[in-house]
This record gives sequence, structure tokens and C-alpha cells, in this order.
Amino acid sequence: MLGECHAHVIMDGVNYKNAVALHKNGVCEEAVRKHLKEYQDAGITFVRDGGDARGASALAKNLAAEYGIDYRTPLFAIHKRGHYGGIVGLPFDSPGEYRDLVLRAKEEGADFIKIMISGLLDFAHAGTLTEEGLTEEEIRYMIETAHDAGLAVMAHCNGNDTCRAAVRAEVDSLEHGAFMEDETLGMLAESRTVWIPTLSPIGNLRGCGRFPDKEVRKNLEGQLKRVRRAAELGACIGLGSDGGAYLVPHGKGTGDEYAYLKQAGVPDSVLAGAENHIRQRFKR
Ligand SMILES: [Zn+2]
Repeated sequence: MLGECHAHVIMDGVNYKNAVALHKNGVCEEAVRKHLKEYQDAGITFVRDGGDARGASALAKNLAAEYGIDYRTPLFAIHKRGHYGGIVGLPFDSPGEYRDLVLRAKEEGADFIKIMISGLLDFAHAGTLTEEGLTEEEIRYMIETAHDAGLAVMAHCNGNDTCRAAVRAEVDSLEHGAFMEDETLGMLAESRTVWIPTLSPIGNLRGCGRFPDKEVRKNLEGQLKRVRRAAELGACIGLGSDGGAYLVPHGKGTGDEYAYLKQAGVPDSVLAGAENHIRQRFKR
């Protein structure tokens, strides 16, 4: 049974504002236990969280053994102030502040560092992002600083140029990775970077009515095509559903993601290899 390589235990797959508000006055243990149970019931024994700013994933890690789960967390994600990432982490203004956050995560027991270096998909307009990504220099500095501290890096990253910069800087795992072009997919395949394409938060929007279905389908088809191409090139592709994202419930989302990856023709052996790499690399 494959594990879940990208989840957010702080979210519930329904409404992130309500879900995050549960932890306003300290972590809500009941909510965390509910989601751990959902993974347990789905037969999932490995979960890598993408972090949150309220300590939910830290508590999940402490409780996970009771549910037979090997749980990995960056504690909080790190983003440049004024850019996307506030839901899942803490901001920095200067390189020095970024470095301090890396060292703080390490000191507090993070298994790895999670960075946010691009915007989100604009679901209403296929092929576009909510904002530009960080510069190649910023991305390189962020990845190298975490590596220097002895930690692996999981990067939220979309857009061809931003993804190329992250792969060049030897990011350990690239999350989402929308709009990578052939040359970047080729570089990815030559690298040691694991790609987690998170098809579920796109595909599960079909028919929900929040966004135009035509745009949702276009985004899904584009990402499926790129995953298929990357698999042909021999890239390391892993299973991560972004569990907790809108319409991606914990546990069920992992199964949904598996179905999408199969649709894109990714062999089980590739998914297992990617998970194994993550299990070895994304720990202290
Ligand atoms: Zn995420």
C-alpha cells in the first residue's frame, strides 16, 4: 500500500477557513485525531505533511504512532512576506530571517524544510497562476541554506521558470509543478528531484460548480499530459494528493490521486521508488 506524500492535517477537504479556525486557541486534538483515523482506515501508514502555522502537523506527528503511521512534518512552511503561503506557514523579509526560520524549524524538530516559491493555479483561468514566482537567486539561496542545515527541501512550486530554477538548485521534492515544459521535464528526469504533481485538487473540482468546468478540465488535461511525458522520460514521480485541500478528503484523496496517476500511465514501481526516496531523505 502506497503512502501519502503531500497532506495538510490542518485542513479538512471542505472549508480551510473553518478548519484552520478550529485551532485558533491551541491545536484541536479531536480534529487531528479524526484525520489520522481517516488515514488509518484507508490503510495508509506513511504521511508527509506540508506544514501549517498552528502546530496541527506537529501534534499529528506526536500522535501518529497510535494509528500505525510514520508521520513526517516540516512543522511550518516558509514563504516570502507578501507572497502566497500564509495559510501553511511563517513569513520572512530578508535572507537572514529566512535562515533563522530554517534553524528554528530544525531546533523545534522539523523532519525537513518546506518552502513556498510560487503562486497557486488560478482555477478560473486555465494555464495561469495567481502570482509570479520568486527569482532564481532567491530560490537557490533558500534551497542551499536548508541543505547547509542538513535538511531536505519540499518546495511548493508552479510555473515553468520557477520549477526549472528549483530543479537546478537541486530541490529534493517539487510539489504541484504546473506548466513545466518539455525541456524542464527533461531536466527533472535527469535530476534526483521527486515530482509530486497533485492532480486531485485540480481533477476533483470537476462538476463542483465553483469554477468553470471547461477551465478545470483544461488544467487537468494539461497536468496529466505533463505527468505522462515525465514518466516516459523516466522522472521520479510520487503520490501526494494535497490531502485536506478543497474536495480532497484525507484518506480518500490518496486513492483519488492514485487513480489519476494511473490514468497518466505512471507505473506502481515508479510511485513506490519515489516514496522510498522520500522516506529515506525527508527525515532528520
Ligand atoms: Zn500543499
